[in-house]
Amino acid sequence: MTPGKEQIFEGLGVSPGIAFGTVHLRESGSVVVPEYKVAAGAVDKELTRLKKAVTGARRQIGRLKSKAKALPGGASDEMIYLLDAYSQMLENSRLVRGAESRISDDRINAEAAVQAELSEISATFANMKDSYLAARLDDIRDVAGRLIRLLVKSPRKSVARAPKGSIIVAEDLTPADTAQMDPARIAGFATALGGAEGHTAIMARALGLPSVLGAADLLSVVRDGDAIIIDGDRGRIVVNPKPSTAAVYERRHEENVDVTRRLNRTRNQPSVTQDGTHVTLQANVELPVQLNAVGQAGAEGVGLLRSEFMFMNRDDIPSEDEQFEFLKDIVESMDGRPVTIRTLDIGGEKLATSLLEEFGDSVSSALGLRAIRLSLAHTQVFETQIAAILRAGAYGPVRFLLPMVSNTVEVRRAKELIKKVASRLKRRKVRIAEKMPPIGIMIEVPGAALSSDALAQTADFFAIGTNDLTMYTLAIDRTDEQVANLYNPLHPAVLRLIQFSAESAFRTGIPVSVCGEMAGDPRYTALLLGLGIRDLSMGAGSIPRVKQRLRSINLSAAEARARVIMDQVDSGRIAMLLEDFNALA
Ligand code: PEP
Ligand code: MG
Repeated sequence: MTPGKEQIFEGLGVSPGIAFGTVHLRESGSVVVPEYKVAAGAVDKELTRLKKAVTGARRQIGRLKSKAKALPGGASDEMIYLLDAYSQMLENSRLVRGAESRISDDRINAEAAVQAELSEISATFANMKDSYLAARLDDIRDVAGRLIRLLVKSPRKSVARAPKGSIIVAEDLTPADTAQMDPARIAGFATALGGAEGHTAIMARALGLPSVLGAADLLSVVRDGDAIIIDGDRGRIVVNPKPSTAAVYERRHEENVDVTRRLNRTRNQPSVTQDGTHVTLQANVELPVQLNAVGQAGAEGVGLLRSEFMFMNRDDIPSEDEQFEFLKDIVESMDGRPVTIRTLDIGGEKLATSLLEEFGDSVSSALGLRAIRLSLAHTQVFETQIAAILRAGAYGPVRFLLPMVSNTVEVRRAKELIKKVASRLKRRKVRIAEKMPPIGIMIEVPGAALSSDALAQTADFFAIGTNDLTMYTLAIDRTDEQVANLYNPLHPAVLRLIQFSAESAFRTGIPVSVCGEMAGDPRYTALLLGLGIRDLSMGAGSIPRVKQRLRSINLSAAEARARVIMDQVDSGRIAMLLEDFNALA
């Protein structure tokens, strides 16, 4: 096969580094479509499932269309033309109408009905020689494939089976998809959709996989097996690179390796500011595979263990023993350093099929029955997790961290449940933490930040989650690449909420940390220290850079700059004041 022409695409560089590899297209695999008969009384339910899938597909296409509008001239027109054709197919087409009739008349499940209708349409087209019509059949296949993937909830080609050296290219990837990527096999990934602060991006950084999201036009060009370079530093993707281009990237990659080697030398240096104040640097952990990196980075503990990994990519809820084994391994590997285990923060973009099916669609809404709300509404799942955490606490210091708290009642109820489970385990003579672990809360809902003075009376510590705090304060979906430019933790509203929460904690005398992505960005270190924060938790890969930065900071200068910044009303000016301060280092 002759190599194709070099093409360059732009997107959001969400995870740094340069990766070289071969395209592994996510959507090209066939989906196993379940087929079954439905009872007469269940026909309406199937029709509703199909309707929801049509709405979902329309939404996907709408997002792709808005992205396509930003492409240069001809490419934009062509993509929009194609996507319009897809939208029409979802309106009143033979595909959708046919599938509806099959559900009602043949009483079969929705995905089987779409598949059957597609097969019949394909058979009709098969006899036509016209290339225009052949292309229309591809369009119908794309739309039918979308509907089927939306109906079969864990549907697509598993990225876990991609050949060694693959770079995954997909329309969109969920955090659960990303969690399946083994960095020893997968070199990086690129998608057409997705924002820089979503969990897919966080997972990419955690795994050290160079990644670019939101490159809308990429999918219409790449083919399985194409050579590809991902430039996660600059948000660029090169397909079929010329030898001269590849050489430039090879050089940049070498430079990156050098910088990392130098930064890693900070591992044994103390984490203190110029004037000798110690700053605790802990690691955020999303997957157990990261623990090695946590050790190498010299983290003083795990400041945020996102426990969702135990629930992802499976159809059932993990048992207490299973969760306990996972957590015990993590606690033991930290060798006496504390592990802050956040209880289940499922919801929004982070979905677990088991919980979604059991508890319904509200779980998938950013404002719905998610995180602590889900735990308190369905205490069985929560109590199982509590028991596993308490048992893991017998092997090293653990702390409970409650996500998405918005009022004191939630904290009190969670505390009661933790106490109840502890008593039950003690009665049964099960070995648990000798001392009751501290119970802290995430401050990531604006209402929680504004009532942090009251919450500080009930919680043992605060962990400020700047990712969601920014999203909810500014009403900006952190996973939506179209509003990524508006997502700004330096917005004065966000900073005021951080300051207000931190001061509530100082007044009450409880510990406070920052564990959102802001904590791992050295541009923000001086500001957070200036606001009084002395505990930062971040992806292990960010620790060396943040340590290097804080070692150059003079605390009283940082405090003076923070005071000036907190008087500002414009985020542009705040960014400038911070940049100027950082440039002095
Ligand atoms: C946050 O919201 O800032 C946070 C740390 O939690 P997550 O990113 O898992 O939502
Ligand atoms: Mg959060």
